[in-house]
Amino acid sequence: MIVVLTGAPGAGKGTQADLLAERLGYRKLSTGDALRKHVKAGTEIGKVAGQIMERGELVPDDVLFGIIKAELNGKSSDVYLLDGYPRNISQAETLATLEAVHPVKAVIHLDVPRPELVSRLSGRRVCQSCGATYHVTSNPSKRPGVCDKCGGALQQRADDNPDSVAVRLDVYEKNTRPILDHYQKKGLYLKVNGLGSTEGIYKDLKGSLERAL
Ligand code: AMP
Repeated sequence: MIVVLTGAPGAGKGTQADLLAERLGYRKLSTGDALRKHVKAGTEIGKVAGQIMERGELVPDDVLFGIIKAELNGKSSDVYLLDGYPRNISQAETLATLEAVHPVKAVIHLDVPRPELVSRLSGRRVCQSCGATYHVTSNPSKRPGVCDKCGGALQQRADDNPDSVAVRLDVYEKNTRPILDHYQKKGLYLKVNGLGSTEGIYKDLKGSLERAL
């Protein structure tokens, strides 16, 4: 079965998906992470996706569906947590074509106001070695530019610059927000407040999921 974790860029989907995967054994599938791996490895998909991602726009739907189909390769009893997919109505409809084996059981919306999203994204720093994330003011590393966990170098994501952040938030409003209504009509939509401590949000999210599944 599938649980969709949705919300604007910077809402904390990746952080919460990691916790749910670690603590509840869900299989996390982040399309952003999968695409970044392709870009790093210089694959054909990476060549198509790299510049589009850097501008903050959406990578074509057929590329994404290829990734989703390849990754949803486990048993139908596995719980897949989708982080960053679907991002528009067309992707939601395509995902529904897999429902005989992988039905969507809940769509959780991490809700965060736009000014907070801008601040989170512009201050975000990511470890190039282990992927741990920090924030320059709210969650800084002990030594500037160095990961506390593995000593790797911290960098700003290519698409966390102000121009791309503005595009990503606009793309979210125009393309992704309509999926909330789409899933509400199907009785699958759940909203969780994405402001507060990581553990507090996790508790709300887990509670919502337990009631839904
Ligand atoms: P994320 O890490 O989820 O913020 O995704 C980073 C970037 O990857 C997005 O800004 C898009 O360019 C691309 N991307 C990730 N998921 C999708 C998707 N479902 N559809 C289209 N593009 C995507």
